[in-house]
Amino acid sequence: MSLEIGGLVFANQNLAKNHVRSILKSIGDGGYIDKTNPFFNFFLDLVMRHPKHEEKIGKGVNRFLVYSDWANENCFGFDIERIDLTKENISFNQCVTGHNKSEKNVVIGVFRHVINDDIVGFKNLNFKPGMQCPLCGCILNKKFDAHVDHILPFKDILASFLKKEPNTPKVFDIDPSTKQKCFRMEDAFYAVNWIYYHRSLATYRILCSTCNVSRRID
Ligand SMILES: [Zn+2]
Repeated sequence: MSLEIGGLVFANQNLAKNHVRSILKSIGDGGYIDKTNPFFNFFLDLVMRHPKHEEKIGKGVNRFLVYSDWANENCFGFDIERIDLTKENISFNQCVTGHNKSEKNVVIGVFRHVINDDIVGFKNLNFKPGMQCPLCGCILNKKFDAHVDHILPFKDILASFLKKEPNTPKVFDIDPSTKQKCFRMEDAFYAVNWIYYHRSLATYRILCSTCNVSRRID
């Protein structure tokens, strides 16, 4: 079964693990992946798949510390260094495999997927290189580093919509380009209702990836 991590689609779990391994190997023992590293967001997304990611991430990720196994220098792993500089070990194998998306998470993904154009549009209009993250003050130079945060949490908007429109579709299609689950054609009317409802309540701001992820798990 294919999986998506950090915007990359892998045909199976082994290919995803090989990709992680090759990045870790290229960085090498004693190296690290911080916010300036183009792989940072990929690793954040990877870690979010871990069944205990909330515990692992704590208040947020400062950087990822790469090491090779003392017994086998070709065997790599990484620790999370949190914002408060505490460290936590995490298995990337468990990140890749350990995430059993519950039925509820699949549905949330479908509702997120369909409003993605609004999010991208906000970012394209409002991102300016050199702007500051309003929560931590770090400088955002690249669009890639900037995450769009829902000020009124997405899950609250969705919960109120589901209360209002209880006949949620139970069967979904797979989007051929992103390989993510999406609404079927016959549910287009329902989907459009949701898009307009979401648009009427959503307010956004641009945060750095670390601040955005720590808000998502609060
Ligand atoms: Zn920030």
